[in-house]
Amino acid sequence: MPVDERGCYDESVRGLNLLPNPDEFVGMHIFKANEPILELLGDNLLKQSKFVHSYPHCWRTKKPLIYRATNQWFISIDDKPEGSSDTLRESALNAIEDVNFYPKSSKNRLKPMIEGRPDWCISRQRSWGVPIAFFRIKSTKEVIFDANVLEHIAALFDTHGADAWYSMSNAELLPAGSKYNPDDLEKISDILDVWFDSGSTWNSVLSSGNYDAGEYPASLYIEGSDQHRGWFQSSLLLSSAVNQVSPYKTLITHGFTVDDKGEKMSKSKGNVVAPDKVIKQYGSEILRLWVALSNYQTDLKISDGILKQTAEQYRKIRNTFRFLLANVDDLEAYVEANEYGELDRWILTKAREVFASVKSSFDAYDFLGGFATLNHFITNELSGIYMDITKDRLYCEDKNDAVRRATQSAMAHISKSMLGLVAPVLTYTADEILEYAPALFKGDMENVFDLVYVEVPEVEKSFDDTLLLEARVKFSEAVDKLKKEKLMKSTLEVEIAGDMSIFAISDSKDLEDWFVVSAMKASSEGEQVATFEVEGKTFTVHKATAAKCPRCWRFTSTAEDCACERCFKVVA
Ligand SMILES: [Zn+2]
Repeated sequence: MPVDERGCYDESVRGLNLLPNPDEFVGMHIFKANEPILELLGDNLLKQSKFVHSYPHCWRTKKPLIYRATNQWFISIDDKPEGSSDTLRESALNAIEDVNFYPKSSKNRLKPMIEGRPDWCISRQRSWGVPIAFFRIKSTKEVIFDANVLEHIAALFDTHGADAWYSMSNAELLPAGSKYNPDDLEKISDILDVWFDSGSTWNSVLSSGNYDAGEYPASLYIEGSDQHRGWFQSSLLLSSAVNQVSPYKTLITHGFTVDDKGEKMSKSKGNVVAPDKVIKQYGSEILRLWVALSNYQTDLKISDGILKQTAEQYRKIRNTFRFLLANVDDLEAYVEANEYGELDRWILTKAREVFASVKSSFDAYDFLGGFATLNHFITNELSGIYMDITKDRLYCEDKNDAVRRATQSAMAHISKSMLGLVAPVLTYTADEILEYAPALFKGDMENVFDLVYVEVPEVEKSFDDTLLLEARVKFSEAVDKLKKEKLMKSTLEVEIAGDMSIFAISDSKDLEDWFVVSAMKASSEGEQVATFEVEGKTFTVHKATAAKCPRCWRFTSTAEDCACERCFKVVA
């Protein structure tokens, strides 16, 4: 490689014996050597022509480039670092075995890259960067690996930063009384590959003790899937080389953000969704919820339509909390575990199971799965059933009625537990909820950062809901027609007749609440308006026989203008 860093032939052309007059070429720029070489060929040149072809150019100066084979610095992958019985490759491969990968398949990307990678070329030729701070003896080009010299330079870097290499003279960079003559030395001007810089952040951020940034190894590294080749790998290699361990216990890789058709975002296509614009339009809660609701293991789709759906889901969660909080506002103490009614024990047991499942999904970084389970529970059991069937007791029973207090307690436990689950994603909402939460809910929490996830308390198991859920759907289908035909506004206008023994709820008021009807009886005198079937048993739906109570709207009064027995007592 007889070309120097200026693009000129160096002394070594003399020794190559390719030219009859090598002296004329030493110092000549290679692009200026074309003509003299053609001349040298003389009659041996058969044909000469010019043609246009593509050629690498410097992006900055736009000047043509050439490739040169030059000396570089490498970290050897198959040598054993001092004090280690394994090669760096072996250490890194061993370290990988202790890492939890999300997704699991990500291990199969990183591992073969380590297995198959060549030595790591860590030197670059740039005019700025972290210097590879070694001296070389000018005359022999021998590099000085002298611990005294290196430690002196390291100490100078600690005080003055790495720029000391450029701003200080050779003499200043040598320790006092050094055996080297500064004039005999030259600084190596190469800098470190930036992957070396970023790959050593575990050392500067975690190990150095200079920052309150957690422990080494880090609990988690997270980046895009392109970093298997970059940061994940350079960090692993440097940590394995120095300490024979991975710098991260867990590795999460995510995809890239694309539009709703899965296409890359580009200004020219006009499909760019900018985070700051989303925050302005929807707020940061929606943006974070969108991340949580996206399958980050592949590319993440975003568009206005998707964000609108996310906003819908957000509203569902928010409204659920609002309803629960509004209804527990006057609760001063939780009831005892044995004071819960059947419906409360049913929802508490459900919530306990569902939240445990959501928590374990979140613990495994499966936010999509966790939120899907949570949203399903909110939509169906919690808001779809429980919040609906408990309205009568919440709004119409006496303020201190035991049934009402039990339901309020169940709601308070559920909302507190659920708040701990969603707070890491819906942080502002959680903070706002805490502001409005009753004192018993808050305890000595000052703000959202004091919030920890607590499980819903365990209560005695309630009824098996299989048949009841089926019956609720069948009943609702049966009366939907009546509602559509405007023959009925509220299910409180009807009563259900049939064999109630197949249902697992023993309390008759609870059973009426479950269907939100005014009565459940063996038979009814009222006009039959619909039927439905469960487990081969027929149930008939009748117009309620009693009068509508003006207070609770249940058809349980003796006369239209007269409160029902329950309401009469409460009002009295
Ligand atoms: Zn009433």
